[in-house]
Amino acid sequence: MLTAAVDGLLDSGLRDLPDGEIVDVMRAMEQSLRRAEAVSHRLVVESVERSLPASLGYNSPKKMLIEVLRISGADASARVTAARELGVWHTLSGDPMPPALPETAAAQCDGDIGVDHVRAVAKVMRKIPHAVGNDAVAHAEAVLAHLAREGTPEDVEQAGHRLLAYLNPDGNLGDDRDRKRRRGISIGRQDTELMSRISGELDPVARALLDPILAKWARPGMNNPDDPDSPTGDGENPSIDREVLAAAAARDTRTAVQRNHDAFSAVFRTLLESGVLGRHRGLPTTVIVTMTLEQVEKAAGGLATTATGGLLPIEDALALAEDAHPVLVLFDHTGRPLHLGRRRRLASADQRLALIAADGGCTRPGCAAPASLCAVHHVTDWHKGGHTDIGGLTLVCDACHAQVNDGTAGWTTRSAPEHSTHAGRTEWIPPPHIDPSRRPRINHRHHPGELIEHARGQVGVDSG
Ligand SMILES: [Zn+2]
Repeated sequence: MLTAAVDGLLDSGLRDLPDGEIVDVMRAMEQSLRRAEAVSHRLVVESVERSLPASLGYNSPKKMLIEVLRISGADASARVTAARELGVWHTLSGDPMPPALPETAAAQCDGDIGVDHVRAVAKVMRKIPHAVGNDAVAHAEAVLAHLAREGTPEDVEQAGHRLLAYLNPDGNLGDDRDRKRRRGISIGRQDTELMSRISGELDPVARALLDPILAKWARPGMNNPDDPDSPTGDGENPSIDREVLAAAAARDTRTAVQRNHDAFSAVFRTLLESGVLGRHRGLPTTVIVTMTLEQVEKAAGGLATTATGGLLPIEDALALAEDAHPVLVLFDHTGRPLHLGRRRRLASADQRLALIAADGGCTRPGCAAPASLCAVHHVTDWHKGGHTDIGGLTLVCDACHAQVNDGTAGWTTRSAPEHSTHAGRTEWIPPPHIDPSRRPRINHRHHPGELIEHARGQVGVDSG
C-alpha cells in the first residue's frame, strides 16, 4: 500500500500546485512519515517477539537491522530503543502491554511528533531520579508529549531542564561534585608567535558572571583595538556617544570570538587601573615590563620581559605604557646602581622594582621562576650582617631559597666581585656533591642575551 502511494507521489506533477498547497503537502507528507515510524516499531516488536533475529543467526535485533536494512549501528540502536519505549509489547500469554512512554507513542501514531521529538522526550525521562513517584513520572511524560506536539525537539529539551529541576529541586549532588571537579581554566605557554592558548570549563556561577560583561564589552563597535575611534569600556556607559558607537559598529569586521578577546583585554586593563586588585609582594598589582634604554630609543624590534615571565613586543609594551596607569616600565641594568641602603629587614618597593629590572627572576642557576614568583632575599643572611642595600638583595623563588643553608648539601650565595664579568650579580656556590671545586655560578635564564653572547664567543663570531 505504501509502495503504491509513494509511486503515485513520485509520478505526480507538482508544477501546477499553488504555493499554499506545496506547504500543505509538505506538512501532510511529514505527518505520514512520522506515523510510518510507528509502523516500523510494530515491525521491530513483531520480529523480536517471534525471535526472528535469533533464528536468522543474529545475537541481537540491532545486528539484524544493520544487515537487513543496511543502516548504521547508531541508527539501528536508536530504532531498537525507540521500539522498546514506544512499541506495544505483549506478555507471555499474549496480552498487550501499554508502551513505556504512552503519551509520546500516541503523539507519534497521530503523526504530530518525529524521531527527534521522541529522542528529546526519552532523554529527559531517563534523567528523572528513581525516587520520583510513578504518578509524577506519568505526569511528566504527558507534559513533555504535549509540548512535543506543539514545539520543536529543542523546545522539549529546554523545558526538560526545568522539569527535571522541578522534580529534583535539591539538584543532583553527584552532578554538583562533578562540576566542582571539572571547573578550571588553563593558560598555555606563549608559542613562537607569542600567542597563548586558553582552555577550560566555567561553572554555572562563573558563566553567569561573565555573560553580562561580554554582552556589554564585546558588543560590535566596542573596545576595538583596530579602530582608534571605537569607544572603550562598557558599551552602555551614558558618556558614550550613541552615534559614534553605531558608526564604529558598522565598521566593525571582527568575529564574535575576536570581540570576546578584545573585551577580556579591556576588562583586565580596567580592573588593573581600578586599584581594587591591591598589592602583590609589596608592589601595586600592575604590568611590570623590563626593557633596555636602547630598545626604547629604537621603539621597534625586540622583546620586553614582564615580571610574570611573559614576553611582549617592544611596540606593544610602549603602547601599553602610553596609557600609563596599569603599566610600569623598568630599564634593566647590568650592574646594581641603586644603593638605597635602608636599614630595614624588609625590602622596599623601590628595591623590589630595581631587583626585577636587574635579576628578572630567580637567581639560582637554571631556575626559570619569573620575578612574580620570587621573594626578595639577602645575598648574605641578614642575621650575619647582610645589608638591606640593593647590592645585598636578590630575587629567589621559595623552592630555591629552601636550598640555601649552611648544611653540607646546601648552596651559598654571594655578590659577584667587582671586575668579574657579571659584577654585582648574585653568584650561587654549589655544594660539593654537585661540584667538588665549588665554582660559583650565575643564572642566565632571565638574561637570554648573555647566553647568545656566550655562544657567539664560543664559535668565534665577532659579537659586534
Ligand atoms: Zn628558583
